[in-house]
Order: sequence, then C-alpha cells, then structure tokens
Amino acid sequence: MQKIPRRARRTKIIATLGPASSDEAMIETLFRAGADVFRLNFSHGSHEDHAARLAAIRNVEKRLGRPIGVLADVQGPKLRIGRFQAGRVQLQPGSPFRLDLNPTPGNVSRVNLPHPEIIEAVRIGSSLLLDDGKLRLRVEKVRADHLETTVVTGGPLSDRKGVNVPDAALAIPALTAKDRADLEFVLPLGIEYIGLSFVQRPEDVEETKRIADGRAWVMCKLEKPQAVENLEAIVAASDCVMVARGDLGVELPAEEVPILQKRIVALCRQQGRPVVVATQMLESMIASPAPTRAEASDVATAVYDGADAVMLSAESAAGQYPREAVIMMDRIVTRVEQDPGWRALVEARRPAPDANNADAITAAARQVAHTVEAAAIVTFSATGSTTLRCARERPEPPVLGATPRLETARRMAVIWGVHAVRTTDVHSMTEMVARACHLASAEGFAKLGDTIVVTAGTPFGTPGGTNSLRIAQLT
Ligand code: PGA
Ligand code: MN
Repeated sequence: MQKIPRRARRTKIIATLGPASSDEAMIETLFRAGADVFRLNFSHGSHEDHAARLAAIRNVEKRLGRPIGVLADVQGPKLRIGRFQAGRVQLQPGSPFRLDLNPTPGNVSRVNLPHPEIIEAVRIGSSLLLDDGKLRLRVEKVRADHLETTVVTGGPLSDRKGVNVPDAALAIPALTAKDRADLEFVLPLGIEYIGLSFVQRPEDVEETKRIADGRAWVMCKLEKPQAVENLEAIVAASDCVMVARGDLGVELPAEEVPILQKRIVALCRQQGRPVVVATQMLESMIASPAPTRAEASDVATAVYDGADAVMLSAESAAGQYPREAVIMMDRIVTRVEQDPGWRALVEARRPAPDANNADAITAAARQVAHTVEAAAIVTFSATGSTTLRCARERPEPPVLGATPRLETARRMAVIWGVHAVRTTDVHSMTEMVARACHLASAEGFAKLGDTIVVTAGTPFGTPGGTNSLRIAQLT
C-alpha cells in the first residue's frame, strides 16, 4: 500500500461525488489527489446511489488509514414550476404570465406553481426568478389561487425549472418531507455533516440539530437574503457554514456575492465555525482539463479570505476531469499558502480569545509554538471543540487533532490546518506527552530533536476540560 503523504496545506478541499466519481477507484484517486471531505448531493440520485458511494468512501478510509469527512447535503425547499404541454415555451418581455395552483400542463400564458406558500408571501411588485435567475417576472396581482405577472426578462422556459423568490420570507421550514426521509436514511449510516439548504432562520438550524441529535454537525448553506439578514444568529446556531454562491447569486445581485463571501468568512472565523466557499470555483473544468485564470483567482481569493475549505460541485460530480479538478485546487491552495502576504492576512485578522479555558490555552499554544518554533501543536480533544478553537487561532505549525472518537476524527476533516488522528485515551500527563511525541513523529510532523506543543485537560477524558499546555521535545 502506498502511504498517503500528509497534506502540505491548511485549507481543505471538498469534492462532490456523482456519476463521474462513483466507483471506489475514482474515490480513492480523488482522496489521494487531495479531497479531504466528500459531499453526497441529495438533490440528485437514489438512496442506493448514496449508500454505495458512502460504503466506497469507508472502504478507502479503512484501506488508507485516514479519517474522511462526509457531507450529506439535503435539497431543502427547492421550489419548482410544473410542466408545459409542449415541454417548453418562449416568454416574451412585457407579456402577461400567470402562475397558478392548477396542476394541468401550462402554455405560453400560464403554468402550474405547486407552492401556495409563494402565493401567500409575495406582494405586488415582488420578483419571481425562474431557471437560476435567467428569467424574471414581476408580480402584478395576488389572488387566492394564482399570481398574475408581467415578464420582465424573457427567454425559454421548460418543465420543472426552479423558482427563486428573493424578496419574500417564505413560511416554509428548511427541511422538506424528502429531506427528513433522506436524513432518516443517511444518519444511521454515519455521516459527519448535514448540509442544510435555503436556511432562513436560526430555528431551521435548531430543528435540524434536534434531528441530528449529536450524530452529525449541521452545516448551514447561506443562499437566501433572509439568511443574510439573520447572519449572526444563524452562524451562532450552526456547527459549520457554507457560502452557497450558486443560489445566493440568484437571490441577490452577482456583485453582492464577493462582499458577502468576505463578510461570512470573517464572521465564521470570529465565531470559530468552519466555513466552506462553494460553487463554480473551477466551473470550466467540467469540460476542460485546465481552469480559466479567473477561476484560479477565485479559488485563491477564498484561501486569502480565510475559508476552512473550498468545494468542487459538478467539476468532480459530473465533469470530464474530476481528478484534474482536485489536483488543480490542491495546487492553487498550496501555492497561495506559500505567499508571505497570505500569512500576513491570516495574522492581521486573528480574533481575540473568548473568556474561557480552551481559548486561554489554545491562544497560548499558538504563541508558544511560534516562540519555540514548534513543529506541531497536538490537541487532545474528545468532541473536537478544543481543536476547533485552536484552528481559530490559525497557528503557524500544523495542528494534530488527537481524539479517541472516530466520528470526531472524521469531523475534523473540514477544519483549517487540522490533521486528525485517532488514539486511545491517555490517563496521565506523562502518558499524554509521550503519546503526543509518538503521534507527531509517526504521522510525519516531527523528528528527533524537534519541539512540539501539547494541549489537554486534566483530569483526562473530561470533554470541555482543556486546561494544560506543555512543551515537549522528541527524544
Ligand atoms: P447546491 O448548493 O449546489 O445544492 O445548489 C450550493 C449553492 O447553491 O451554491
Ligand atoms: Mn444551493
């Protein structure tokens, strides 16, 4: 077996799996090329498809001996129009168009909109966006069972295209019946993160957390203006966050997206939540073996902004060059992280520690590691929370997240700068230091004579009990 060399970068890579990346050999290839987390997209595919991919990931994990994170991304309330008699119509700007609750196939003057909550929420003057924002309708009249609109931006419109309603808060929860069934199916199989689409309010997150019941972290996908209005509260309620630029850029003008990306990433670092920048990062690589310069620059910008992870969607799920896309992302991220200007930005944006023991210890660990030029910081953490606070410090040396729990080791896959490793419980300070030295050496982070910094809690094995900092030398 060819051993996986430790990753040379801090920013993580998420690769979406799909028809182009379903067999185990391809999943292993993508992992070796640099994917740290795999995303199962429940907007497409059957339960059997996802279960087979998950089983393949776990086989690769076992074979290579490295924990892998899995994101189960549920579709959420993706709204769609009904069908047309002819399959498609051409809408002309200025012409009237009706959306109604009548399920019969539509034509050039009307179509079914099977979502009464949209009819309830919109007002005269509201916009409806169709097919990823390509077409725009203006609401003229709101009736009990239909909307009369004028076509503002016309174009072709076909069966079951998506509808976005940017300027109304819809009375719909973030979890649909399909999402609940998907979670009921996938949570017992063991996944690390739930991707929660179209979050509008902190209550959406709390409800999903109740369903997860500690079995997975909830990753909120920020893709609605209503979520942006409640940003602080939603981030605080979440375990991790995704800047879901695809739908965000439909619901808000494109020029708002880069600014929001920076704001959300900064807020997540402040609050210590892992944050993913997603969608269209290397879009042209769906059909081309090399990215555009603009795409290379986009991946780099996410790294400079301070994201924990960057994500591939169709590039790895359905494109012709999944492996090349992961390799390209890995190269761009690695190169940016060698730029002294990147390090300077990371340093300049460090938030102050919160007033608690874990922050006191991890802030000190970062400083001590810098002073003694430590080869690594080893954090002992049962739940991963201390490791996460340590990553928030963005220390110079890599962070080894040592944990006895497999699920914690897997969850650490998305966290900036963390190399997770499973270990048995330690029972004394002496044992802890010896174990840390052993792990740092065995995992290729330190050699004889190197110094490491260790954080842990005494008494040992108490979650949330981090209170000790040690400097140790490998002898
Ligand atoms: P999606 O989410 O790929 O599930 O739509 C990401 C996004 O909207 O950017
Ligand atoms: Mn989306």
